Amino acid sequence: MKESKEKPIGLAARPTRPQEFYDNIKRKYAEERDRRLNYRPNGTAQYTSDFSGALSRYEVDPYAAEAPAREPINDTVEVLFIGGGFSALLTSARLREHGVESIRIVERGADVGGTWYWNRYPGVACDVVAYDYLPLLDELDYVPKDHYARGPEIFAHCQAIARKYNLYELATFQTTVTSTVWDPAEQMWNIATDRGDRMKARFVICANGTLSKPKLAKIKGLETFKGHSFHTSRWDYAYTRPDLSGLEDKVVGIIGTGATAVQAIPGLGAAAKELYVFQRTPSSIDVRDDWPTDPNWARRLPQGWQSRRRALARMEPQMTDAQKAKQAAMSPEEKIRRQENANIEAMMKIHQRIDAIVKDKATADALKPWYMLMCKRPCFHNDYLPTFNRPNVHLVDTKGMGITEIEEKGPVFEGKQYELDVLIYATGFEVQKTGIYNQIKGENGLELNDKYREGIRTLLGIHSQGYPNLFIMGGYQASFQFNLTDMLQAQGDHIAACIDYARRHGFQSIDATREAEEWWVQEVIKHRGKTSRNQECTPGYYNFEGEFQRRQDGNYNGGFFQYCSHLSEVQKRMDEHFAFDKK
Ligand code: NDP
Repeated sequence: MKESKEKPIGLAARPTRPQEFYDNIKRKYAEERDRRLNYRPNGTAQYTSDFSGALSRYEVDPYAAEAPAREPINDTVEVLFIGGGFSALLTSARLREHGVESIRIVERGADVGGTWYWNRYPGVACDVVAYDYLPLLDELDYVPKDHYARGPEIFAHCQAIARKYNLYELATFQTTVTSTVWDPAEQMWNIATDRGDRMKARFVICANGTLSKPKLAKIKGLETFKGHSFHTSRWDYAYTRPDLSGLEDKVVGIIGTGATAVQAIPGLGAAAKELYVFQRTPSSIDVRDDWPTDPNWARRLPQGWQSRRRALARMEPQMTDAQKAKQAAMSPEEKIRRQENANIEAMMKIHQRIDAIVKDKATADALKPWYMLMCKRPCFHNDYLPTFNRPNVHLVDTKGMGITEIEEKGPVFEGKQYELDVLIYATGFEVQKTGIYNQIKGENGLELNDKYREGIRTLLGIHSQGYPNLFIMGGYQASFQFNLTDMLQAQGDHIAACIDYARRHGFQSIDATREAEEWWVQEVIKHRGKTSRNQECTPGYYNFEGEFQRRQDGNYNGGFFQYCSHLSEVQKRMDEHFAFDKK
């Protein structure tokens, strides 16, 4: 593989300074967090995903013509996926291996791909190494073109999976599931859609993604803006043109500086007459260590190379006896202190990189993040910071406050009106809701959201008692992985194993027992309480914008290795964790 000049900073930085230095930085982090919490005590309620009325145009699919009329579908399938992104694709591949033939994907978009269908903004790419991120590379005999894959390649890979596993045949696109109701007499799910369909399925898999519904900040006057505007996940190429030449004579504004904006801004800066970047909290920008795949390396890859690579990544970190003894001798407080100091060192290196690249000192200072790395999604880009050296690019740093007002001509900050032709919202997505557009009613007609009202209750984040034959992917109480597709593959393999088990034993339904569910809820709570890191982080979607009381409503923090071990333990002892029904 090729060596690139600048290596990513990552978290491998050694703390070498007096403790006072780190304590002072932690104080500054706390001040920055508190300022933001004071501006927005309403937490997640600062956003809206309700695109009814005047906001409906922000959710319209710009990539497909209006859905053609069709007759409602009234049939029965064995497995039905709600959503057609990676969750559905990689689970389907495993189900096919187990001989499941009747698989339907119901998807809102006009094709498979999920997040890679919707996110087509200029510069869209994935920050996880492509050889790890793109699933089923062994099965498809495909090696990604570059170390990091760009959006179009990933979208094409999704389509290739759907073709290989014959998933287009029964798929229903431009269709939204509106209700999923369990029929205990028939041991079947009844699925209704916005196209009048009334389908039945033995097994239903909620594969609706972790970040799928766009959200907008509730900004006063947002709907009064007279210029053009859209959300990054609904990029209007008819307006910008595919090469962005439509922006040559336009004054463009973008709200938000998260992972999406970081990728879109370099292209916008190069294309627009003027670009205003409205920043509330800066992202951390590390080196993007990219290169084209070496064809000789690719040619020599042995069969099954990706599964071996993934198996290695899932292994528990190995320590020498000396390292283990050193760890054991350290108090939990000391361990946390060392981790934090190393984290602060890494962030200081991120700061130094900004100073080295961004010429204007005030702009460089404004671009510096003041929080622990990983409090927000870390970003990797080589053109983002240099974009701020362009004379046509202007950073409007709102110092944690954000844009709170938009008038006919554009956003207003500190009394100044920014006149724009186009305003782009890079304000992110609603997080991890099971059944976002959909009401799920299990045994006794209880809606899943009502069951969750006092706190989420699942087994492994996948099963919820009282919802037989329903599987949830990418939801809370599952592990979190920077490489999300690896986590989804672990869940997909588990779900396929459960369905296979039920089919082989002639069971009509499989449901988590109350005891198994309670065990998992307690596991989640136990591991979430390990550190107060989430609480100390600057607000963002990782910590529910600072709504701290939700202890069981997060991810399982016991580590991915442990999570995978639990999955295989449960698979080995199905009878102890599930109740089965035989007709
Ligand atoms: P995010 O939720 O990460 O970012 C939203 C941005 O909008 C934040 O910068 C937020 O500021 C800002 N914002 C919200 N309201 C206002 C306001 N009123 N004024 C100014 N700014 C405002 O969404 P993204 O779409 O960027 O990313 C979502 C996730 O998608 C990522 O975290 C990542 O998991 C994934 N992704 C991954 C990519 C990759 O692999 N490289 C690329 C793109 C996305 P604040 O921080 O203060 O809340």
